[in-house]
Amino acid sequence: MAVILKVDGLTKAFGALKAVNNMSFTVNRGEILGIAGPNGSGKSTLFNLISRIPFGATSGAVQFEGMPIHGLSDTAIARMGVIRTFQREAVFASMSCVDNILVALEQTLGVRGREAERLADEASERVGFPRNFHNMQAASMPVFYQKQLMMATAVAQRPKILMLDEPASSLVEHEVDWVRDTITSLNADGMTILLIEHVLPLLMTVSTRMLVMEQGEIIAQGHPGEVTRDPRVIEAYLGS
Ligand code: ADP
Ligand code: MG
Repeated sequence: MAVILKVDGLTKAFGALKAVNNMSFTVNRGEILGIAGPNGSGKSTLFNLISRIPFGATSGAVQFEGMPIHGLSDTAIARMGVIRTFQREAVFASMSCVDNILVALEQTLGVRGREAERLADEASERVGFPRNFHNMQAASMPVFYQKQLMMATAVAQRPKILMLDEPASSLVEHEVDWVRDTITSLNADGMTILLIEHVLPLLMTVSTRMLVMEQGEIIAQGHPGEVTRDPRVIEAYLGS
């Protein structure tokens, strides 16, 4: 299988703390790579470093489709199709829902006007975000709809790699079903997905492969069934 993303020796130091410590791994085109690990193990920081939102690495390299991207701006990286979401609902709170999508489209793809509105409608429909919520203020929406809006915003930017940071956190069971179905459906269309989840069941059912992190390092990788039986993984979780 062709490698779409290659991470090599990626490191981020905050003073003495190495939040991500010399991480190396590859992502195959078309896979769903699940990323697990206790709180504070460096999962979100890893997405920060790849997307450069809001900051890049202290050292190390990231290649996307064979091109080094770690020296590019966050916008340039997004424009290439490497798109992330955030653990918190990173919506522009005072804006309407649709304006959240339109701002992202203008920033990333330089698309505005009718074409942007068409892409926003298309993405909302794709992820099941109700069109009649488009003109509501983003901050006034329940968490589930903010999660849907964040997914629609990401999908509108035409990701080749979609990096989802805990899309199921603080959702109830039937809402988690939406996360699972949406990820599976986007992946079936050819989107490569990196999925961070702190809780294991969703990760185990959708991931084609998993990485488990602890203290900024990879402690296990492989098929979900294998890694979750790994003694280091069990200890990392029980010890957290
Ligand atoms: P996870 O997403 O796995 O819960 P994070 O990547 O958010 O973990 O954090 C990894 C470690 O880096 C934690 O110890 C956290 O406190 C620290 N960290 C994250 N972001 C910053 C920052 N901007 N400044 C200082 N320390 C940070
Ligand atoms: Mg996190």
